[in-house]
Amino acid sequence: MVHPVYADLPTTIFEVMSGLARDNGAINLGQGFPDEPGPRAVRERAALEAVEGYNQYPPMRGLPQLREAAARHYAAFQGLDLDGLAEITVTSGATEALAAAFLSLISPGDEVVLFQPLYDAYLPMVRRCGGIPRLATLQPPHFRIDRPMLDGVFSERTKLVVLNNPVNPAATLWADEDLALLAEYCVRHDAIAVCDEVWEQITFDGRRFKPLMAFPGMRERTVKIGSAGKMFALTGWKVGFLCAAPALMKALAGAHQFLTFTTPPNLQAAVAWGLDNSPDWFAQMPVDLQRSRDRLASGLEAEGFKVLPAAGTYFLNVDLAASGIDEGDADFCLRAVKDHGIAAIPISAFYETEAPIHLIRLCFAKRDETLDAGIERLARAKGTGSPRR
Ligand code: PMP
Ligand code: GLN
Repeated sequence: MVHPVYADLPTTIFEVMSGLARDNGAINLGQGFPDEPGPRAVRERAALEAVEGYNQYPPMRGLPQLREAAARHYAAFQGLDLDGLAEITVTSGATEALAAAFLSLISPGDEVVLFQPLYDAYLPMVRRCGGIPRLATLQPPHFRIDRPMLDGVFSERTKLVVLNNPVNPAATLWADEDLALLAEYCVRHDAIAVCDEVWEQITFDGRRFKPLMAFPGMRERTVKIGSAGKMFALTGWKVGFLCAAPALMKALAGAHQFLTFTTPPNLQAAVAWGLDNSPDWFAQMPVDLQRSRDRLASGLEAEGFKVLPAAGTYFLNVDLAASGIDEGDADFCLRAVKDHGIAAIPISAFYETEAPIHLIRLCFAKRDETLDAGIERLARAKGTGSPRR
């Protein structure tokens, strides 16, 4: 009766693990959301806008002041020359932006190149649009691409490439030479790149994020997607951005108009204000997250866990096998949340094929006490700590 894509589609791992965390009173280092409530000034601005501002339908492509603020932001941080009014549409989160991109750009039978590990929303949406996924698999610990890999997935039927950078869940940043190689293949195959860059603000150790759109030949063939939820650590806000040259934007906005049409204007106004008035936030947020990353990593290492490097995002990965744990990632995560009160995400959930089953993802966007308690519980799950009382 229902569409085959949805007939047996499992509930997303983020919801499953957060549900188990709630049911078991567990510490939740699974789903990626911060402990802290987000910048107060931006939240106060949203409150002010809700009470004193305009709360009827805003323009379909988003408040002009937000589109222009986002263009200024991307010019300042990434050197992009976007025309906010012509080249940016505000969406209800990056998730809606992805849906609008897939709906407007994929025709049945088009091939879509994707890289595993992949964010779990991509494949069902691509398939629902009639796209044929062509999956390349990136291998831990470096998650790099090369020419033979791209030769194996690109063809004359390639319509779209989906890039996630920085990568959730690998916590890697694509190397400049890999981005250049991907751009070369996009141009050669006349493919459009849908770039899910929601973690663009969150990079560590002095690394600079570089958008694929800035590479030669990509300006007119890239759909860049951002998320104010990630920029301001307000993950529930669901204010996203679609950025693309006018010819692509016409199609993207066409899909957007009948998905949500608009996004709450009070949140849009608060994000616009935040983008122009938060230099300290943008400077400090990655520094604080890097400190949290280091606290979680060193605490875990002290308990004998092997931790993979994390160059960006809210996440770091633990290698169970290298930590002396002879158990699959899904089994470990179920046991950890039920018996030891600690939720994590099994990395195999981000693969359709060739899944490694020895890695789990932990979110470190948490207060110190949450991280410390999480470490203690993970140590118990590993067998080096005492069982939970
Ligand atoms: N893409 C990736 C890679 C993500 O990690 C997330 C959320 N964490 C999203 C998209 C969804 O973003 P939003 O909440 O703005 O819809
Ligand atoms: N992107 C978030 C994560 O990776 C989760 C978003 C969601 O739950 N849909 O944890």
